[in-house]
Amino acid sequence: MTAPAHPASSSKPWDAIIIGAGAAGLFCAGVAGQRGLRVLVLDHARIIGEKIRISGGGHCNFTNLHSAPGNFLSLNEHFVKGPLARYTPADFVSLVKRHRIAFHEKHRGQLFCDGSARAIIELLQYECAQGGVTLRHPVTVNAIRREGNLWLVQGPDGSERSQALVLATGGLPVPALGATDYALSLARQFSIPVVPPRPALVPLALTAQALAPFGELSGLSVPVILSAGVARQRYGHARFEEDLLVTHKGLSGPAMLQASSYWQEGESLELAWLSEARWEALANDESQRLKHAEGLLARALPQRLAAVLCQMAGIAGKRWAEVGKKDRARLTELLTRWSVKPAGTLGWKKAEVMLGGVDTRALDSRSLMAREHPDLHFIGECVDVTGHLGGHNFQWAWASGFACAQALKSG
Ligand SMILES: Cc1cc2nc3c(=O)[nH]c(=O)nc-3n(C[C@H](O)[C@H](O)[C@H](O)COP(=O)(O)OP(=O)(O)OC[C@H]3O[C@@H](n4cnc5c(N)ncnc54)[C@H](O)[C@@H]3O)c2cc1C
Repeated sequence: MTAPAHPASSSKPWDAIIIGAGAAGLFCAGVAGQRGLRVLVLDHARIIGEKIRISGGGHCNFTNLHSAPGNFLSLNEHFVKGPLARYTPADFVSLVKRHRIAFHEKHRGQLFCDGSARAIIELLQYECAQGGVTLRHPVTVNAIRREGNLWLVQGPDGSERSQALVLATGGLPVPALGATDYALSLARQFSIPVVPPRPALVPLALTAQALAPFGELSGLSVPVILSAGVARQRYGHARFEEDLLVTHKGLSGPAMLQASSYWQEGESLELAWLSEARWEALANDESQRLKHAEGLLARALPQRLAAVLCQMAGIAGKRWAEVGKKDRARLTELLTRWSVKPAGTLGWKKAEVMLGGVDTRALDSRSLMAREHPDLHFIGECVDVTGHLGGHNFQWAWASGFACAQALKSG
């Protein structure tokens, strides 16, 4: 449905003012506008959609075919179920197809644009235009307050009144792109609880001591099994079979980014370079008895890594048949249950998403509206819902934006 463009300035209040013209805000605006609502979107950035532009290595991993509640971390794990069911990956894929954007599946359901991520920004802008949405940027929002039944949003050139207010200002990662904690401070201003934010999908640094043996391996990528988190605490425990990347500061790659969302300061991660079954088969292969330990390991791992692990286990240069029981046990432990305690994350500059945010227990999952504050909504990354790596975070932006847009009312 195409609605007429609404005048930028009018004495009639807007049906909704959305703060934040990112993935969730623009998507919500387009859907609401096409339902016939008068929508104003405000953003402080000179260029909008910057996180979309840099996402997925410039090709935007815009959804995941297998996106399901289990792919999200939230203190209230049930919260995502309704929004995810009402707007699915297939719904967004059909929108992408309608826009004739070429895409491909890369890995485990991850869908990327064949060309530039800008195609997704243009899709969102087009959908907003179809809904007659008014977009203003760069605009600084100075204050927000309730005035009777309306929200008053004050900017440098005066104020705008609206029936509903939607906060879509995203999370704290990549401050250089204008990330702020605006939604969180507004939530606090209205006594809405906030789960303390911390960087997620972020590389982890190792201490100089832990990193020393891996000094020569920077740039090496290897499939591993990585476990993080503590069962029944905060976001629980998870295990990922993905690639690990050794860097000059620590560990990264999909396995570590995924694990970082479950890791907390002071905890250790458990890393298996090989599965127990694979290692057992290799260690008991009689035909390999006379090989050097490095050679044996190099049948399953990159040679450079095999050499480092044998060094760490104190069996460098030994034939496998000469390695005693104790040393074998130490190597097995190192290969299948290596416990490593990261020194910390690389912080907001390197994080892809924010863990924590506006507490979902204070929001209604049908409308993303604050239970205690009628017509105040929070969508996208500023909410305490964080997706796994692989397109789930954009799926949350679309799904939460859609749920909110359906709930907004025309004045
Ligand atoms: C490097 C990188 C790569 C990523 N790749 C992927 C990927 O491939 N797939 C995936 O699913 N996810 C990816 N993500 C995560 C994804 O970008 C976010 O989850 C998603 O953009 C969140 O949408 P949002 O609308 O909530 O926030 P955003 O898209 O960040 O939009 C927030 C908007 O609010 C505006 N804003 C902020 N503060 C204010 C303020 N005070 N006043 C006015 N406006 C304000 C900002 O300028 C911005 O336009 C990636 C993130 C990063 C950093």
